[in-house]
Amino acid sequence: MTINERDMTAFIAREARRYFPELYRDDGPEPPRIATPDAIRPVWNGFETPLPARPATYNLTPRDIEAIRSDFPILKETVNGRPLVWLDNAATTQKPACVIGRLCDFYLRENSNIHRGAHALARAATESYEQARGRIAALIGAPSPDTIVFVRGTTEAINLVAASYGQLAVSAGDEILVTELEHHANLVPWQLLCRRTGAALRRIPVDDAGQVDMAAYRSLLSPRTKIVAVSHVSNVLGTVAPVAEMTGMAHRAGAVVLVDGAQAVSHMPVDVSAIGCDFYAFSGHKMFGPTGIGILYGRQALLEAMPPYQGGGNMIDQVTFEESRYKPPPHRFEAGTGSIAAAVGLGRAASYLSEIGPGRVYRYEYALLNRAVDALRNIPGLRIIGNAAEKSGIVTFDIAGYDSDDIAARLDREGIAVRAGHHCAQPVLKRFGLEKAVRASFAVNNTPEEIDYFADTLRQLTGGMRIFPAI
Ligand code: PMP
Repeated sequence: MTINERDMTAFIAREARRYFPELYRDDGPEPPRIATPDAIRPVWNGFETPLPARPATYNLTPRDIEAIRSDFPILKETVNGRPLVWLDNAATTQKPACVIGRLCDFYLRENSNIHRGAHALARAATESYEQARGRIAALIGAPSPDTIVFVRGTTEAINLVAASYGQLAVSAGDEILVTELEHHANLVPWQLLCRRTGAALRRIPVDDAGQVDMAAYRSLLSPRTKIVAVSHVSNVLGTVAPVAEMTGMAHRAGAVVLVDGAQAVSHMPVDVSAIGCDFYAFSGHKMFGPTGIGILYGRQALLEAMPPYQGGGNMIDQVTFEESRYKPPPHRFEAGTGSIAAAVGLGRAASYLSEIGPGRVYRYEYALLNRAVDALRNIPGLRIIGNAAEKSGIVTFDIAGYDSDDIAARLDREGIAVRAGHHCAQPVLKRFGLEKAVRASFAVNNTPEEIDYFADTLRQLTGGMRIFPAI
């Protein structure tokens, strides 16, 4: 070990003590570095115990929010000498200490490859990985952990379905319906599938408020429709689509439904069984979990019928030179060594969300959204796009005469992180006559004061000076 590595180890230990004091309560001897699972369990359990109990009548008072904020170490950072105000949650959420700690703990004490190797750490890592699968299944109301496939993120989940289910069920003359709201991740894979098969992609339009035009959807559904792909929540407009109703209609027409839940899972209760959808895709990093990990939920019967997406280790039962027999799902779709630690961290994030309560999160973020909309409405020239009756905590806007990138840069100088650009959803911006826009997106760890600071800063910027660069 070099000096630097030694310093790093001491640093991690010091930081872990700072963020997880409960783990070091009695400051006893360091736990053994390598030991049998039984010997190390108590320390793991330190990360595994639930968050400090919140009152049963938890209703997100300022004290509750302060308690939640204190779970996120990064929120204590300053940017340009100002407290960080993170309003870019739709791009990625920040990570609570319990998730960071779970990742550290995995690498410090459990690290091993999984599902093979007859040794203690392999068993421990496999157990943690599979436990994470179970926690995620519970969070989204999936009937069994076997319906939960670990992937890299929403993008990979959708590509998996397009490649595997697409190969099984889509051919020339068929149709795939996609709403006008979609992120490119829920559009381009379907374009590629159509190009491969000769199927046609059909656009489900949205109305001026940014809601799915249900009459148009109804008239587009036909026996030719094989797949309907829809965002649960639009990453640009915040529209919450009526995914259960859309699924029922698609099923009656004989089509399967993929819901892109990237913007839903950390913001509202999600119950895939109640929605009835066939596939549900989401990303760990947008729900307080690590990057590089995400989930594809699939209806068991469909997953069992689907061919592998990628081939390699972990996904096979038996291989001869002539042919291979594949494992059942979900392992059939997890070829090679995945992001094991990230999966374990995502399991912790799922528990964290369950402990706060997604229903409470939804109500709280709705209050933040209303506060933001009320405050921004008074800024001259500011236009909010997306005014759906059912909307989650995303406000996208432009201001006449001002450049979106400049607005974001000026907010950044004041410590406020928002996103400017096309938000990987060019068709929907175009629908509203824009090339780019500014987006503020909220999470349960934002406060009303942050919303006010954001709105005040914006008002000052636009009132005080022209930001549009002189040519
Ligand atoms: N769908 C939606 C609605 C999104 O907001 C995003 C991320 N912005 C994605 C898909 C893609 O997610 P990822 O990059 O994590 O795969």
